Amino acid sequence: MSSKMLKFVSTEKAMPEKRKAGKRIADFNEIYDEFDVFEAEAQASRCSQCGVPFCQVNCPLHNNIPDWLMLTAEGRMQEAYELSSQTNNFPEICGRICPQDRLCEGSCVIEKGFESVTIGAVEKHITETAFAEGWVKPAAPRVERVESIGIIGAGPAGLAAAEMLRHRGYQVHVYDRYDRIGGLLMYGIPGFKLEKSIVERRGQLLRDGGVQFHLGVDIGGATTFADIRAKHDAILIATGVYKARDIAAPGSGLNGIVPALDYLTVSNRKSLGDKVDAFESGALNAEGKSVVVIGGGDTAMDCVRTAIRQKAKSVSCLYRRDRANMPGSQREVENAEEEGVVFKWLSAPQAFLGNGKVRAVQAQRIHLGQPDATGRQVPEVIDDSSHELPADMVIKALGFDPEDLPAMFGEKGLQVTRWGTLKIDWRTMMTNLDGVFAAGDIVRGASLVVWGVRDGRDAAEAIDQWITATADAPLAAVAGR
Ligand code: FAD
Ligand code: SF4
Ligand code: SF4
Repeated sequence: MSSKMLKFVSTEKAMPEKRKAGKRIADFNEIYDEFDVFEAEAQASRCSQCGVPFCQVNCPLHNNIPDWLMLTAEGRMQEAYELSSQTNNFPEICGRICPQDRLCEGSCVIEKGFESVTIGAVEKHITETAFAEGWVKPAAPRVERVESIGIIGAGPAGLAAAEMLRHRGYQVHVYDRYDRIGGLLMYGIPGFKLEKSIVERRGQLLRDGGVQFHLGVDIGGATTFADIRAKHDAILIATGVYKARDIAAPGSGLNGIVPALDYLTVSNRKSLGDKVDAFESGALNAEGKSVVVIGGGDTAMDCVRTAIRQKAKSVSCLYRRDRANMPGSQREVENAEEEGVVFKWLSAPQAFLGNGKVRAVQAQRIHLGQPDATGRQVPEVIDDSSHELPADMVIKALGFDPEDLPAMFGEKGLQVTRWGTLKIDWRTMMTNLDGVFAAGDIVRGASLVVWGVRDGRDAAEAIDQWITATADAPLAAVAGR
């Protein structure tokens, strides 16, 4: 083994410098700086090069983490980049926003008493170095193929598939109802976790590699699914999940109670320089307001931190379980607390009070009872625990369900699961419609970017196999559709 490794005894775990809370809440820029070359080498050298690397096993992309850590520690950055980009289309994005504490780093097994290797930040450093050095190149297929693939949805799943299929020479057309690519990377996740220039840079690379984007096209609206299907040899549906879950409590229709994604989309558009009426009018702007966010996942964390940056008077987060049982990343809770968010653990809304417009949330305290069939303790209301929390704005962040795709696409026969997600054969990634594949959140339900990338890659492989098996003349000059 390289003498550069196994330095976890002498070198402590470090994250890249985090901007002080007082400074970072003044803008929407990322809160972590980047490692410089010395810090990246030092942190990578802490890896003990496990024989069975659990970090790799528990990375959804099975990234070859020990090898690219060793190459980084040895200063062989171009090789580290070549290796890391073989399994991940967007390592600089995953390095920033994967919940590493639940995936690779959470599984790192440096000896007891020592903290995990800082894998995500090194992954980001490798690809940022590659961009700076000009090593990241657009797809340049050796052979152009005649077959064309239509991808519906330009989120991480659709984009990863697009890149893989272009590498193989397919004519790739990506359709999205938004005006920009990226899906939730662009309009859901705020800039303080992922700056939008990072997503735009990937978009440009895909365009330079020959992927054709058709933006502002809502499939199921003026353009039907049948139109798209008739134009392409295979279709990938990667439309994500967007139907916000609601709260069934009295007063939930009052003005000032808003869905999380509407709120975040407006804020992201504002940061991108768009003119947004709902922001200017104050409807989706937290400035000067007492804000209560309901939910305990990543979306809720993004809302509370956005409201702080919009200069809300106060921001609290209401969640019915406790800190240990929340679905959001613990690192994000810490960041939110540092920025001034108050968490009301074990609290749930009972009613919303106001006259036309919300003025308070009536909340109840909860205690966690016996575990149910899933093993999670059931939240139970504590008697006589009602209390009021003043609120001029309430943001509902309770998760998302799929839209009714069979109805939207006019394809009643398209099979869905009982949760409304698309049913696929996981071996072929194909739906029950011949040549129609699916990937990402629309198959898994609300998930993670890294799983979207994984599914997009798997779908591209499956589409290639299906086309190769069914095509008469697989290789030919571009016919130009
Ligand atoms: P999406 O990213 O949702 O992309 C789907 C695309 O399809 C969209 O661009 C949409 O416009 C388009 N589309 C939908 N319907 C149509 C149609 N009919 N016609 C044309 N286009 C259509 N994951 C993490 O790993 N880390 C995080 O920190 C994180 N934070 C999150 C924060 C928020 C607020 C949210 C909501 C999610 C977060 N996630 C995070 C989850 C992650 O963003 C998603 O799992 C991931 O983006 C799913 O990728 P996707 O490609 O399947 O779908
Ligand atoms: Fe970790 Fe995500 Fe990178 Fe995998 S893709 S190594 S889980 S940060
Ligand atoms: Fe290195 Fe940790 Fe992975 Fe082991 S589990 S190979 S120490 S990063």
